[in-house]
Amino acid sequence: MSRARKGLAAFLVARPLIAILLAAVVVGVLLLFFTHRQRTPVTHRVEHVGLTDKQQMQLGSEEYAKTLREDRAQIVSSGTSYAQVQRVAKRIEAVARRDKPNFVWKVTLLRKNEANAYCLPGGKIVVYTGILPVTQTDAGLATVLGHEVAHATAEHVAERLERQNLTRIAIAIAAGGIAVTPSQYAHLVALLGVGGQAASLPFSRKQESEADHIGLIYMARAGFDPHQAVAFWKRMLRASKGKEPPEFASDHPSTARRVEQVEGWLPEAERARRQG
Ligand SMILES: [Zn+2]
Repeated sequence: MSRARKGLAAFLVARPLIAILLAAVVVGVLLLFFTHRQRTPVTHRVEHVGLTDKQQMQLGSEEYAKTLREDRAQIVSSGTSYAQVQRVAKRIEAVARRDKPNFVWKVTLLRKNEANAYCLPGGKIVVYTGILPVTQTDAGLATVLGHEVAHATAEHVAERLERQNLTRIAIAIAAGGIAVTPSQYAHLVALLGVGGQAASLPFSRKQESEADHIGLIYMARAGFDPHQAVAFWKRMLRASKGKEPPEFASDHPSTARRVEQVEGWLPEAERARRQG
């Protein structure tokens, strides 16, 4: 070690706060180099993600294929519910595509009693028939799809992976590698938000609120009446009383507060609906 370096080391040892500050700056700079900064659509929040669009699509597509294989017997491919889900998803996807032109959007309806839906990174959507009695109308369904699709366009899973230092594992899986332990894999799948509530880890409150906000603007841009979103969340509040909440109702301060927040975004949503 040179004298200058020794001097610097002694200086830092004597001043631990400065050393910690320097380390924080170095980590921050590294974070900027190895992840990319992106802005979420609609809310324009700066976030750090380590996965590219392509890697997110690979990750999502693999998990989607696995779900469809496992639940093959539950896939609904005709009838009025099927037609409704395809019809509404097409309109929401057209709006989401403006923010994520690379993603390949696709929706599958599964015959399951649970009131749930999710969208994997990269644009693959799964809707359970159990949500349809609560969504009731096209606008109600558009509220749910808008929310789920917003998690994908805002890259919430990639952001979570980055925060938990799992980006590299996700990249290995996306590339078809198996250099992960079963517990790492299980944790990753839980982070994807796949399947029922018990299997998936909830998004953070901030991400949930953000998905509500972006989703509301999406459904309005797609031409649906944003007031119907408020009506849907109120129905959801009644339907989920005393039950384990599904993904999109999870980890919220309270659903009543959520209704209030959504009402606050209505003027912006009305403008979005007029502008298309
Ligand atoms: Zn959600």
